[in-house]
Amino acid sequence: MIKVAKFGGSSVADAGQFKKVRDIVRADPDRQYVVVSASGKRFSDDNKITDLLLLVNAHIAYHVDCSSLLKDIQDRFAEIARELGVKYPIEAKFEEFSSVIKSLSPEYIVSRGEWFTARIMAEYLGLPFLDAADVIVFHHDGSVDMERTQIRLREASVQLGGRFVLPGFYGATVDGTIKLFKRGGGDITGAIVARCLDANVYENWTDVSGFLSADPRIVDDPRTIHRITFDEMRELSYMGASVLQEEAIFPVREVGIPIQIKNTNMPEKRGTIIRESAEDNEREHLITGIAGRKNFMAVHIQKAHMSDKVGFLRRALTIFERYGVSIEHVPTGVDSFGVVVNGADVRETIYSIVNDLQQELKPDVINVVDQLALISVVGRNMNRRAGTSGRIFGALGEAGINIRMITQSSQEISIIMGVNNSDFERAIKVIYQTFVDSEMVDMPSRGEVQ
Ligand code: ASP
Repeated sequence: MIKVAKFGGSSVADAGQFKKVRDIVRADPDRQYVVVSASGKRFSDDNKITDLLLLVNAHIAYHVDCSSLLKDIQDRFAEIARELGVKYPIEAKFEEFSSVIKSLSPEYIVSRGEWFTARIMAEYLGLPFLDAADVIVFHHDGSVDMERTQIRLREASVQLGGRFVLPGFYGATVDGTIKLFKRGGGDITGAIVARCLDANVYENWTDVSGFLSADPRIVDDPRTIHRITFDEMRELSYMGASVLQEEAIFPVREVGIPIQIKNTNMPEKRGTIIRESAEDNEREHLITGIAGRKNFMAVHIQKAHMSDKVGFLRRALTIFERYGVSIEHVPTGVDSFGVVVNGADVRETIYSIVNDLQQELKPDVINVVDQLALISVVGRNMNRRAGTSGRIFGALGEAGINIRMITQSSQEISIIMGVNNSDFERAIKVIYQTFVDSEMVDMPSRGEVQ
């Protein structure tokens, strides 16, 4: 078994966290490849090293002295190394970096957060350090050259005896220019390593015990989702429930490697396993999770015999495209449809859009619903069990919540409802109570990767 273990910023925030990482890595010899983020927050109003380095760049851009900022960053690394008894000359190395800082590219500067963190980690774990600039190869357009990356990672793994610690979040073009992934991109590095080295599982260690079935700010102590499919996770993440960097899914999903979310602070918890499909299990939860977002806007258009008119919908959508507006959903009826967009995207243009729709389509009715919240109820088992939507709508009706719009995803793994922004939290609570609280007995796991 080969496991890639990726540790996020909070898992390497201080020496105490490094110790937890060591215990986790040592507890399982299959954890051969360790990927780390830069040290993150130690407490809620602390700063992430990455943010401090971005601030360094801003200082340099505006010709403001940043020596005390650099000293703060150096002190954080030095403190971790000292407390762990690591011999690596971190202060000298950091001073070297600081002394030439003005000659370095902004991306190079930010990448040093993970570089120094991984350096200390490698030393502390007694494992070889592998620089991401030598193995994660970027094309000049910012995408990853997966073929070259795979060749380099495989060679490096053989040379280093099948184990290493790698900094996440960056790589380099073939000519050695450092490139960064998006924020949170250490997750992508971990997924790429898992794919290129044929891992059986990609472990993503963070500070939560997996995906929650609802937002804990709305629902008290929501159930952890133990098993979820990639599609379900996409739906939930898109609607705002996120643990992983979204783009981290693709490299592993394409080759069928499951992702396991685990909590560095509570390694005994099962966490969440994300895979392509979950085996059929009659006893499984009906609803996997509920998520949602506020501030959408829906434009409803009605025209008699619309269903006979070829190209009507396309012409409507073209108008939105003309204004550069991305469309979220298009719920349709026989002679009507709605176009749901993000409110912020049309703040300036909605009047012009409606005007163009009027002129070009001459609809019978056109109206705009503002302040709309979308709630997505996600569950791969819903399509096999009759009456799910009836139960949702019934529960909302009983609670006096008006449903403004309904749509279902094409694979029938989610039902999406529009409610007024002001009903958002209450609607989520009601749906949660109807489905999750009523089946709160936790199901036993079968065939789970632990
Ligand atoms: N350190 C980077 C960030 O803060 C990348 C990561 O943590 O994955 O966004």
